[in-house]
Formats: sequence, C-alpha cells, structure tokens
Amino acid sequence: MSFIKSLRCKECGAQYPVEPRTVCDNDFGPVEVEFDYEAMRGKVTRQSIESGPRSLWRYRDLLPIDGEPRAGLRSGFTPLIKADRLARELGVKELYIKDDSANYPTFSYKDRVVAVALTKAIEFNFDTVGCASTGNLAHSVAAHAAAAGIRAFVMIPHDLEEGKIIGSLVFGPRMVKIRGNYDDVNRLCSQIADKYNWAIVNVNLRPFYTEGAKTHGFEIAEQLGWQLPQHTVVPVAGGTLLPKVYKAYREFITLGLVEDNKPRFYAAQAAGCNPVSQAIEQGTNLFKPQKPNTIAKSIAIGNPADGYYVINLVNESQGYSASAQDQEILDAVKLLAQTEGIFTEPAGGTTLACAIKLIESGRIPRDESICVCITGNGLKTVEVMQGQFAKAPVINAKMTEFDQIVEQIAETPPQTTQPPVKA
Ligand SMILES: *Cc1c(COP(=O)(O)O)cnc(C)c1O
Ligand SMILES: [Zn+2]
Repeated sequence: MSFIKSLRCKECGAQYPVEPRTVCDNDFGPVEVEFDYEAMRGKVTRQSIESGPRSLWRYRDLLPIDGEPRAGLRSGFTPLIKADRLARELGVKELYIKDDSANYPTFSYKDRVVAVALTKAIEFNFDTVGCASTGNLAHSVAAHAAAAGIRAFVMIPHDLEEGKIIGSLVFGPRMVKIRGNYDDVNRLCSQIADKYNWAIVNVNLRPFYTEGAKTHGFEIAEQLGWQLPQHTVVPVAGGTLLPKVYKAYREFITLGLVEDNKPRFYAAQAAGCNPVSQAIEQGTNLFKPQKPNTIAKSIAIGNPADGYYVINLVNESQGYSASAQDQEILDAVKLLAQTEGIFTEPAGGTTLACAIKLIESGRIPRDESICVCITGNGLKTVEVMQGQFAKAPVINAKMTEFDQIVEQIAETPPQTTQPPVKA
C-alpha cells in the first residue's frame, strides 16, 4: 500500500509521475514527493506506527516506496536523550539531544536518506548507485550498497579527513576524489547521472532521498511521547534535513498525531561556511554562495541546493540562526562529550555551539523545550580534536608513581568542568 500521489514542483506546482528526476522542466524548481494525507487518515495512526519495526521503516507509510524496504533495514530509531546534565550547564529547563551519532550502520543521519534512496534505486532497476558527498553520505552509500549487492561510485572533495576516506573504502565502492570543493563535486555528479544513467542518490533520486530525512523528525515527535519540542536546532549543509524535519512535524500535525505547538526552527552553520545563517541574519531570502573554510567539513556546502527553502521555513516558523567559530565548535564537542557521554563530529559541535548562542542571546527561551539535532559521530574525525587535551602521563608499572599522579590530580581542577562556550 502506497500513499504517494506524484512528484510536484515546489515552485510552479507542475506534477510528474514517480520517476528519477531532480528538477521541474518548466522552471528548474526542485520536485518533491506529494502524499495523499486524506487516504492516510485513520490508517496511519500512533498505534500503526508503534507496532512497526524499531527502525525508520516504522514510518514507511509516510515514505515514497512501493514495495518492501530493500536497504537500511536497521537504520534509524536512534536515541532521543533528555540531556539533564547539559541542560543544567546551559541553564535551560528542558533539553533533548536527538542522537544520530548512533545511527546504524555508518553513524550519521545519512543512513536515513540512503535507506530510502537505495530502496528506490532497486525499485527503479538501477544497477549502479553513487553520490556527491562531504564524507558521511559516501560512507552510507558504500555500506548500504555493499549490503544490497549493488555497485557504488562515491565522489568526494580531494581534501577530506583520512577517517572519512577509509570509512568508505572499507565497503569496497569505487571512490573518485575530485579537485575542488563539494559544489564542484556536485556539479560533476549531475553530468554523471545524465551520461551513465546511474542513480546518484542526492541528484536524480533527490526527491526520494530527502523524504528519508523526515524520519529524524518523526522520531523526535514519537519519542517525546507524541509531542513536538518548541524549539528545534538543526545543522544546515545542502539544506535537506531542516525542511524535512519541518515537513515531518507538519505531517504529524495534519494526521492529528501531535498537537500544533507552533514549533520554531533554527539553522546552525559554521562561521567558515554560513550562507544560510548570514542571509537569515541580514533579513534576506537570497543567500550569497561562499567558499567553505571550516573544520566542520561534513556541513561545508557553500552553495546549498535547498538553502532558499531553509531560510523561508526558519523565518516562517519565527526561528532564527547562528554561526559558530572553529574553536567554539571544538568546545561544544567537548561539552557534549563531558556532560552527556556523546562524542559528535564538528557538525554536531556546530549545532550545539549555535544552540548555546541562541539561548544566551535570548532567541531561545530558557524555560521552553529544546531539541538539538546531533547528526554525526566524532570517532570518524578524531584528528580535529588533536591538541585539545593535556597529554596523558606515562609511568612505570609502579604503585608509587601512580600515587604521585593521583596527588597531582587532587591539586588541579578536574578536566570535566570545561566552561560552557560563551556567545
Ligand atoms: C549531511 C550532514 C548534515 C546536514 O546536511 P543537509 O544537506 O543540510 O541535510 C548534517 N550533519 C552531518 C554530520 C551531515 O553529514
Ligand atoms: Zn516548476
């Protein structure tokens, strides 16, 4: 049973059949999957969802597939954590972390979008899949393709972190490193999709890929006991996740599964790549493309495909945005690790650092519910943390030497009380 109506252009409303496609033929506007919510009424309920698998496929009625899921059968349904220690540190009442650093199998939010895109690629009978990636997407495409037995090509900028490269190569894809930044990689991938007729998940399968991101938002709402947080802080790279978490909340409201509490959305970007945050702060809905220069490489997209929609949705929801400097990002990574035991990559540090700024500036009230979306795992990018910690002492295996260390530690303040990042 499928509730898909068609693909529809977000600009002119032109309708297209469900097929591989990126944009509208009339105006190059992005096309989006449109569902029949009337037909879902009474069929898609809290109970029907709760009786589904403990994966993102519990929301399959709201995802654009026709048959059975074919990839990412264990992806999604990551923890939503009530972060009380971090909340105390930040002086806020009710704080949640949606933790996609624990996503399966490749530890980022990308496992969601790829689960849906590869299922669709198999439905469309593609024999090769690929992606333009800042790192995490390549991991996820490579892993899911290996598990499904499909050939994969992953295209990445030439200067990614070593962990991001090995973490893809281990799954056996063809990897091509492209001189230039993500935007150059993406442009080439559009041509590759046309010429070779491959399923490039974030190009010609983009309408299906992006729907997978809704599951991050569905889970927040369900795991919060069928409620929406009042404030949701989301990292922005190409601009897929934020509008889709928004769409997820709206769909649950439309279906009567949650109450409309007028949720507000906040875009988090690194200061070294913040076209969207800059536009929001300047009060325009046209962003200026940038050349990225930040340690948060997985969100370093200077010309975001869906940036325009992010800006409009953030403004429409009466949210706002912030940008974080590299050191603020690293401090936030440490703070999350040392208060909640969650090690995120710089993208997650960016989101938390921006949330802190929005709280301290009063944009996010301290007494309302806040959800911070953590989208990737720090173990993939350990090298960015180098030099952030005092060297561990080396001793001989003698009790007297260990005693000396314990004495020294007693004299110095413990490492676990890092000051919170200041705006
Ligand atoms: C891809 C990615 C994002 C968000 O990207 P969008 O293109 O805006 O959806 C955020 N965090 C991490 C770790 C990512 O890999
Ligand atoms: Zn159009």
